[in-house]
Amino acid sequence: MQDEADGADDTSVRVAVRVRPQNSKEKIEMNRICTSVADEEKQILLGEDKAFTFDYTFDMHIGQSAIFDSLAKNLIDGCLEGYNATLFAYGQTGSGKTYTMGTGFELSPSSSEAGIIPRAVSYLFGQIDAARRSATQRGLPLPEFKVVAQFLELYNEVLIDLLDVARDAKNKKSQVKIHENAEGGIYITGVSTRVVLSLEDHRQLAVSEEDSPFGVEPVANPEAQTMEFETLTAKFHFVDLAGSERLKRTGATGDRAREGISINCGLLALGNVISALGDRTKKGCHVPYRDSKLTRLLQDSLGGNSRTIMVACISPSDCDFMETLNTLKYANRAR
Ligand code: ADP
Ligand code: MG
Repeated sequence: MQDEADGADDTSVRVAVRVRPQNSKEKIEMNRICTSVADEEKQILLGEDKAFTFDYTFDMHIGQSAIFDSLAKNLIDGCLEGYNATLFAYGQTGSGKTYTMGTGFELSPSSSEAGIIPRAVSYLFGQIDAARRSATQRGLPLPEFKVVAQFLELYNEVLIDLLDVARDAKNKKSQVKIHENAEGGIYITGVSTRVVLSLEDHRQLAVSEEDSPFGVEPVANPEAQTMEFETLTAKFHFVDLAGSERLKRTGATGDRAREGISINCGLLALGNVISALGDRTKKGCHVPYRDSKLTRLLQDSLGGNSRTIMVACISPSDCDFMETLNTLKYANRAR
């Protein structure tokens, strides 16, 4: 059988689990480590008797560059061939989502600690340079590339444009809206779009927020439609989700309750969508994209002509046992 990871019509979600190292507080308090990884079997063992199998497993010693190579490189190569991709991090607060995605942007992309996003942008520009060099060497016309980025935060089902410098101004209501074109493509209006010319440009976008989808869209030959060239467009979404422990928070009132409900709505809807995509017996059945803004936003980048990877981030410490179990169960549903 052909490896489905390379197949265009592979609509299921690949799931990776990453265990972060213990932090110094956990070490000082001598918290026991309750996770172990069986690499060959791609299994995570939690406690004595709970085993889960995933597509990729990364134990606590695995560094940022290996994570990028295993999870993101292929997706970027796919983008350059026209496949949309989504990579999102799920897990309780403090489990390593932001560290893994690199949404913090405070590190230099060449730092060994840099996460997936800065590495992805650097790799993308490297591939673009390589394509240009190769065309020059072969005496072919130079391919043109256009890379644009958007940076959004989703809070209480309202989309906030993080690249809009005036976004905090009083009485400024979010104008960001999600639309669908006749071909089922999702596009957003009312959002700043930055053309990114280089890795340095991308770093100027530095903002650090949670629940933030970051999209990069490489477009080859933007003005070439009328000529004999081929034009490819693809979207890449990077999503740093809200802490999963908030998924079931109850008893809160007022704003906190509203916040809890909309986080529930997004994470539950995402869970339902990816489980519907993964369930082969349900192929062709209804996928509930419309249940939340998060899934609506990602609609054309989850399933169909796209590749999706979920990175479930977990703590190794027994004080987090129950949250880790919840995360592994959520991640397991996606397969
Ligand atoms: P989250 O975004 O899930 O709330 P963070 O990414 O902010 O969690 O991680 C919490 C802390 O743990 C941060 O200080 C981060 O640098 C550290 N951390 C997380 N994962 C790792 C890792 N794999 N290696 C080293 N430090 C990590
Ligand atoms: Mg975070």
